[in-house]
Amino acid sequence: MDDIASARASCRAMHAACTEGFVGRRVALEREAAMKWNERERYGAVVEHLAAAGNPEACFLAGLAIVFATDGQCYAGPAGAQCLARAAKAGHKAAVYVLGLLRYHAGDEEDAAMYLRQVEGEDAAGNAAGYMTNRECVQCRAQAEAAVREVTWNVIVEPSPAPVALPKEGSRCTAAGCGVPQGWSNYGVFCSEDCRIRHEHAQFSALVSLPDSNLVHY
Ligand SMILES: [Zn+2]
Repeated sequence: MDDIASARASCRAMHAACTEGFVGRRVALEREAAMKWNERERYGAVVEHLAAAGNPEACFLAGLAIVFATDGQCYAGPAGAQCLARAAKAGHKAAVYVLGLLRYHAGDEEDAAMYLRQVEGEDAAGNAAGYMTNRECVQCRAQAEAAVREVTWNVIVEPSPAPVALPKEGSRCTAAGCGVPQGWSNYGVFCSEDCRIRHEHAQFSALVSLPDSNLVHY
């Protein structure tokens, strides 16, 4: 009986701790993989709860769900971008990456380039060695693709209409080796930020259907 009483007491303490935003922000959502696939509704409720508490991964998933999966349509309301921005602000790199590509898709090249610099940890002159690579982008792209599949797995996503005019669509870089992976690496060195964002946009939009740029608002 003592055991039950103490178990109940520790459960209550645990519940109290877990409902505090402080703990919610630090729960590792990635560890809940079994719940994710076996108890969809419960997992969804946990994500929502943790997103409300500011958990970066939960904000990332909740943001993607709004941007890529709401009502089975590609619709990006401000709430989706806000969730992603919240995750990005907490240092979630894949969220920064997705925000950058959404900005590019909406025709805002300057913001897009700024986000990708942040992903790569560069300033305007490139990394510490003066190069512009997509080393971190490659990781973020894989992570974002998996997360988009996760939030859209049981949702019929309507293909979004092709954007009216993408910035500098069709212009080809003539610099030798620009963006071509070197040796054993899976990332390349780019001659400019324009080339890098264009490359990332082409790669990511081939993997997931980016929302209609007219609907992306901030
Ligand atoms: Zn180039």
